[in-house]
Amino acid sequence: MKAALLQTCIDRLHLRCGVCPHACVLRENQRGKCGVRENQDGIIVALNDGLAVAKAVDPIEKKPLKRFMPGTMIYSTAAAGCNLSCPWCQNHAIVNVSPSTYYFGYPVHPEAHIVAAKKARAKSLAMTYSEPTVALE
Ligand code: SF4
Repeated sequence: MKAALLQTCIDRLHLRCGVCPHACVLRENQRGKCGVRENQDGIIVALNDGLAVAKAVDPIEKKPLKRFMPGTMIYSTAAAGCNLSCPWCQNHAIVNVSPSTYYFGYPVHPEAHIVAAKKARAKSLAMTYSEPTVALE
């Protein structure tokens, strides 16, 4: 598991995650609001690093990018966890992680996403379905 890219030590027992504006302060074994960053032995780790919970190829018009490269396909993928709590979320079943969850997706090397996108002739890639900063690492 990879250490979260942005974190600071507050004191002997607490770390602050700097990956998103929630700036969660985490004590040992505590997870942040996103459910995928946890203080383990004095380091915040990204529990979803290198893992995906979804991937798909769609017409770009399905995204809120109507006038961006119209007529092309986009490759989408998602990491588990989300730092938002939108009551209308259409993807809660795949992205939300409860404090007791220990499944964070299946392994996918970052290059494999690019290979799959090229194979599908997708012109663009999106981190989507969950809020993208949860996949920062
Ligand atoms: S990424 Fe997660 S742990 Fe870090 S500040 Fe945002 S919600 Fe909190």
